[in-house]
Amino acid sequence: MPELPEVETTRLGISPHLIGHQIREIILRRRDLRWPVPQNLTELEGTTFVSVKRRSKYLLLETDTQDVILIHLGMSGSLRMIHPGEDWKKHDHIGITVGNNLQLRYHDPRRFGSVMRMAASEIRTHSLLTNLGPEPLESDFTAAHLYAALRNKSIPVKVAIMDAKIVVGVGNIYASESLFRSGIHPLIESNKLTKPRAQKLVSAIREVLTESISQGGTTLRDFLKSDGEPGYFKQCLFVYDRKGEPCRVCKTPISHKVLGQRATYWCGKCQRR
Ligand SMILES: [Zn+2]
Repeated sequence: MPELPEVETTRLGISPHLIGHQIREIILRRRDLRWPVPQNLTELEGTTFVSVKRRSKYLLLETDTQDVILIHLGMSGSLRMIHPGEDWKKHDHIGITVGNNLQLRYHDPRRFGSVMRMAASEIRTHSLLTNLGPEPLESDFTAAHLYAALRNKSIPVKVAIMDAKIVVGVGNIYASESLFRSGIHPLIESNKLTKPRAQKLVSAIREVLTESISQGGTTLRDFLKSDGEPGYFKQCLFVYDRKGEPCRVCKTPISHKVLGQRATYWCGKCQRR
């Protein structure tokens, strides 16, 4: 599933090919994604992209008419910049051709993703975008914020940091890896986390996500390739998906438990309650 670093890597990859370029054609081959893709998306032909932003895992492509194309990659979506004449592969659903003779193509085998249209003025109030916590890499995601958000909660800290109302974009892999890096046991009750440990956790979340994005960035030169996978990457994982394997720090076998329906991994020696 595309997580925040993949979405940010995608944003960095597509932005230079879209910003300042006019939309020549919008092709809707399949509109039955998670929600129906609005037919009036094609009315944006002739407008020009002015920015490509990200909020949580939503990409926000704004035009000079203050319209926004919102894209969420769902479980299996991806975006590529290709030449407009290129064959449509199975599961290629939408194409947005821009003036520099490139096409942004949306590919999504499972069709849990979404492509929607809204006004730029709706970004803060739209039901999908309101009630979201701070961005993990922005300055308002602080130890004070996290400590305050966790103080009255008894749920495990791992479940809490995956709650988008507390902080957006910390997916399952990054939650497990950040907790390992900060030495915090994933099952500790949120209200037991001290302020210094909240600070460690904030720093670890920032580090893990930043490293993932910069590693994704190294594949950006391949972004225009139509045959390869998009700019995703494999990170060196310390605990995630390593059940029973030796901890890379202390050799203790990695523990595993399903928590809130998500697989959770930790080292019983390196991570303390
Ligand atoms: Zn260990």
